[in-house]
Amino acid sequence: MRILVVEDEPVLALRLQQTLEAADFAVDVAYDGEEGWHLGDTENYDAVVLDLGLPKLDGVSILRRWRDSGRAFPVLILTARSRWSEKMAGFQAGADDYLTKPFEMDEVVYRLRALIRRAAGHAQPELACGPLRLDTLAGRFSLNGIPIQLTAQEFRILSYLMHHAGKIVSRTELMEHVYDRHFDSDSNVLEVLIGRIRRKLDADLIHTVRGQGYRLADEAAP
Ligand code: CA
Repeated sequence: MRILVVEDEPVLALRLQQTLEAADFAVDVAYDGEEGWHLGDTENYDAVVLDLGLPKLDGVSILRRWRDSGRAFPVLILTARSRWSEKMAGFQAGADDYLTKPFEMDEVVYRLRALIRRAAGHAQPELACGPLRLDTLAGRFSLNGIPIQLTAQEFRILSYLMHHAGKIVSRTELMEHVYDRHFDSDSNVLEVLIGRIRRKLDADLIHTVRGQGYRLADEAAP
């Protein structure tokens, strides 16, 4: 899962980036409104953290532009304290949730995980595919009730497939949601990672669909 953070305060931007990376997200950061709008318009994100007061282009305008051009990712806006009119403007522009500064860093993680899960059409916090479970709030996988240890990259891949279980996910789509924009990767690396995840799962759950991509599914299920 990949997140865009648009925040002009360098200290807060860095804390958000570190917190989200520690929670196994791939993170891109934009420090002004124009760069933020451009990244959201051209890259594929699972969710966006958007400050409203930004240089060059304000958050509400960015959000309105994204929504007008059909960008549907969940957006969590950051607002100054007690600015109700600002929050309203954010919602009217298409925000999904908001946080009032100052806030607990962990709360950003929990809200984003819930927003991403909801956007993928899941109501329950736990996702299941046969013996494989993902506790979306805690960010942990288990197989037959036993926790699976995954690297951050492996976690992002499996998490994306799990949120879209049963659907074919192309290699391009998967890579766009697993790596930040500075990461130089190719599909060979992706295949190696998929191989490692398959061995850790010790179950035939990730299927290769020839020429199309991958699909997470429990074929043993009736
Ligand atoms: Ca700001």
